[in-house]
Amino acid sequence: MPKVSLIRTESYDQRAMDAAVSQHLDALGFLIPSSVKTIVIKPNLIMKCTPERTATTHPAMVAAVCRYIREHSSARIILADSPGGLYTPQIMAGVYAATGMKQAAQKFGVELYTACVSRPVQAPDGQVCKDFDILAPILDADMVFNLCKLKTHCMTTLSCGVKNLFGCVPGLLKPQLHYRFPEGERFAGMLLDLAGLVKPAVTLVDAVDAMEGDGPTAGQKRHVGLTAAAVGEDIYALDLVMGRLIDLSPQQVPMLAQAVERGLCPKTVDEVSLCGNGAGFSPIQDFRMPATKGLDFADNIPRPFSWIVRGLGPRLAPHPKIRVKDCVGCGKCAESCPAKTIEILEGKAKINLSNCIHCFCCHEMCPAKAINVKANPIFQMFSKR
Ligand code: SF4
Ligand code: SF4
Repeated sequence: MPKVSLIRTESYDQRAMDAAVSQHLDALGFLIPSSVKTIVIKPNLIMKCTPERTATTHPAMVAAVCRYIREHSSARIILADSPGGLYTPQIMAGVYAATGMKQAAQKFGVELYTACVSRPVQAPDGQVCKDFDILAPILDADMVFNLCKLKTHCMTTLSCGVKNLFGCVPGLLKPQLHYRFPEGERFAGMLLDLAGLVKPAVTLVDAVDAMEGDGPTAGQKRHVGLTAAAVGEDIYALDLVMGRLIDLSPQQVPMLAQAVERGLCPKTVDEVSLCGNGAGFSPIQDFRMPATKGLDFADNIPRPFSWIVRGLGPRLAPHPKIRVKDCVGCGKCAESCPAKTIEILEGKAKINLSNCIHCFCCHEMCPAKAINVKANPIFQMFSKR
């Protein structure tokens, strides 16, 4: 039976976080073998922003993990991630400073990875995607610590352990994967293939302050007061449990539904062994979901009307809409658009929706939160809420 540890962690107080990380790993029987020479810490650094935006893993959790590894191993420790958009040493230096990683890592002699090198790698067990390009330190590590943030996500509904590993793919190669796998189902399958390739040794979830609404970058902070963890392949059960925490069933998250189908994950939380003082949680029923939730809304419409709605799907489906007055013309949306359907005209972004594949990368990467997710009223009426 998979095992997931949940601990009430009410704040980012460093002592409390240090204690929570140790309790998780002790409860899970996690050990770092002496043969491990290099460990990579992979937080969620989706964009250059401060921890207060709740889009990135909090530095207190990263510092606690750095301390834990230092106390239990003499391995070299590297912190690495790739946000969306351009991936360069200069950009990474800015991201590490803004997100608090620099301070968290330096105290423990942890290297911040700025070389920005990646390599192609085959995923022979991949069911949807068999070839990836992955950050070199992740490929070379003996052990990966996956440190994610609990968030909603406009494309995948849930962003937690599995989705966090998409950051192992460097910057502008991420939109290529969106373009290769534009349908939500196939994209979810690709994420599972990627998780099976990276195989993190342990996954920890920062859900002290989570993100609700239009995540993963433009939602709102929601205090949950919890951290969670699982080792190895229990990452899927961990996502199942965190989904349950915010009142999402596996059927509402394609990634989880497919993990269940592939036999990676139990169907219900009842089949997961929960430990820690947060194990008795109740689902947060008013946790706000993204406007995109329920993209498969045609299933909710009585026959014989559902086929008409399916035909109209692309027109009715939620789409990105620029709030022109808030757009600063930075071009980050155009840079990250896999369909190359955004232009910057007279200092403002303009989307040609006829080519849009509804991946919401533009929404995710906009530093000014100037892109709304616009849902058709018919869609809203029938979407699964
Ligand atoms: S919409 Fe956002 S990302 Fe795009 S140009 Fe405007 S401010 Fe930049
Ligand atoms: S316009 Fe936005 S949602 Fe549409 S394809 Fe481009 S990045 Fe994706």
